[in-house]
Amino acid sequence: MRNRLYIISGPSGVGKGTLVKLLLKEDEGLALSVSCTTRQPRAGEKDGVDYFFLTKEEFLQRVEADGFLEYDEHFGNYYGTPKSFVREQMKNKSVILEIDVVGALNVRARCGEEFAPVLILVIPPDEKTLISRLKGRASEDENALKERLARAKYELSLKDQYDYVVVNDDLLETAERLKEIIAAEKEK
Ligand code: 5GP
Repeated sequence: MRNRLYIISGPSGVGKGTLVKLLLKEDEGLALSVSCTTRQPRAGEKDGVDYFFLTKEEFLQRVEADGFLEYDEHFGNYYGTPKSFVREQMKNKSVILEIDVVGALNVRARCGEEFAPVLILVIPPDEKTLISRLKGRASEDENALKERLARAKYELSLKDQYDYVVVNDDLLETAERLKEIIAAEKEK
């Protein structure tokens, strides 16, 4: 048995967040990775819980020091997965990291040897379901919806690079499948 790094990716609206919450609730041997960001905290967000909030200078210093498993820029702010935090957590637990497909593939390419991540892609049963799930999110206007659909199609096109592709048809069944994958990989 060893602690592993599980990276869960998938198009927005596919149910990743709910699945990750379920897994964390049921398995005390799992911890969630906390990312660093340069964006301002939103109301109610706590430093060290939702994110580690850094200044741009602090973030760039960490980039220089090779302190991230991967990092990216979204909406004018930096986001990254801190190596030291993940390393520390993995001394006691397996770690779940929820990031996009590009981030996941970057982790494998840059830090595959040390962290040996298990890449899991969660996909919707079909495009119709994806669209209806995206529409169910009240915040989506027409343009945002189109953008997210295009993004989802791009992510799905990279599925061959994943260790596991799990179709989320039924939430509880999918959670069971993820638990099986986690258990099997711990034994490797
Ligand atoms: P938000 O500001 O709404 O919390 O997140 C904005 C975007 O940043 C989301 O798409 C989220 O998935 C992405 N994000 C959050 N943490 C990380 C990270 O550690 N690395 C990367 N590449 N993206 C992240």
